[in-house]
Amino acid sequence: MANNWNANSWRGAEARHLPSYPDADKLHAVEQTLTSFPPLVFAGEARALKADLAQVAAGKGFLLQGGDCAESFAEFHPNNIRDTFRVLLQMAVVLTFASKQPVVKVGRMAGQFAKPRSSPVEKIGDVELPSYLGDNINGIEFSAESRIPDPERMLRAYSQAAATLNLLRAFSTGGYANLRQVHQWTLEHIGKSPWATKFSEMADKIGESLDFMEACGIDPQTVPQLKGTSFYTSHEALLLPYEEAMTRQDSLTGEWYDTSAHMLWIGDRTRFEGSAHVEYLRGVNNPIGMKCGPSLTPDALLKMLDTLNPAREAGRITLISRFGHDKVEAGLAPLVRAVKREGHPVVWSCDPMHGNVIKADNGYKTRPFDRILGEAKGFFAVHRAEGTHAGGIHIEMTGRDVTECTGGAVAITQEGLADRYHTHCDPRLNAAQSIELAFLLAEMLNL
Ligand code: PEP
Ligand code: MN
Repeated sequence: MANNWNANSWRGAEARHLPSYPDADKLHAVEQTLTSFPPLVFAGEARALKADLAQVAAGKGFLLQGGDCAESFAEFHPNNIRDTFRVLLQMAVVLTFASKQPVVKVGRMAGQFAKPRSSPVEKIGDVELPSYLGDNINGIEFSAESRIPDPERMLRAYSQAAATLNLLRAFSTGGYANLRQVHQWTLEHIGKSPWATKFSEMADKIGESLDFMEACGIDPQTVPQLKGTSFYTSHEALLLPYEEAMTRQDSLTGEWYDTSAHMLWIGDRTRFEGSAHVEYLRGVNNPIGMKCGPSLTPDALLKMLDTLNPAREAGRITLISRFGHDKVEAGLAPLVRAVKREGHPVVWSCDPMHGNVIKADNGYKTRPFDRILGEAKGFFAVHRAEGTHAGGIHIEMTGRDVTECTGGAVAITQEGLADRYHTHCDPRLNAAQSIELAFLLAEMLNL
């Protein structure tokens, strides 16, 4: 077990981006309740994901991680879960075909509620209120009452995460996710997309491979790997009272796990030396992600790796770079070199979303598709130049037809953003943009 660690040792360290709850007794009561609730995931599943990620770190796989920026109570609906899951699987099939490697599928789902904000306050006109911090902390409605942190929201978040995870498990193993079906959805999508001709050749090849397998007697309805899929969950481990209350000791190994998700990550704003978030995550045995942005130096990164993964266990650490389309090549290369030089086994994944936010002329926060693509291209270029494995992609997306990111072949304009802008925090790729991105990534993986 990690030295001098326990599930609440983070309380002695510097915690940024945590709410201050006005009623300590109520908070304590909620924490006690959560501690008595069943774990959402089991240690063995987190170990299985770690083993999959160890393969990716060794250059033998690709990580696809995606979902909402912030899940919300208002958008909690089985169709939303289904559609996001479906698009992730469609993307995974395209990426598997292109890379000829297994794709590890991880949702930003079933627990992705809490948000670090660039400002602690939000001002509309003359009224200034505390910022919205995610549905498990306070309400998005712009009123003084709704912005007061309420610990009982954690119980609702737990219950939504449990129901979401239950549906994801049912979809992934219950027959919904069979390969033939997933590919059929992609064909239907292609049938009505502006990028149809460009990608139909690859889609046809995938279809032909399935035909060939079936002709050989491999029935996608009966082979477990084709009939279903493994699907894991993840979120930013930001709200530490919740994560602490979900921490359990595995009865098989005696190790500690954060049982709120299979994988947890540390955000770019909470990954500093001495951070409470780093202190908490160093002691749980789940696979851990860490966002790497422009302010991270190679030395600080190496220190962080020694803290979070002193045993240098492969699959433990995924480094998720998020520099911005124009900064990625210069910023990422020194980090990649340092990690390679020191021999740390990591998965390198690209978040092309968080460094590419702009404000549209009409005030909407958006991300141009070209810049998202540009960052992914830069990420692949750096890894090609350094001789390292470009191991994954981390995106904010939804299976719904929203209008939050501009561009793509569906050509969402700045004026069009107002049509269906539903996100509770950052702008997401919609279904068509996500699948288009998968085909474009497939071209990069094929180079
Ligand atoms: C996020 O992933 O939603 C996020 C806040 O990212 P970052 O920590 O990279 O800014
Ligand atoms: Mn975000």
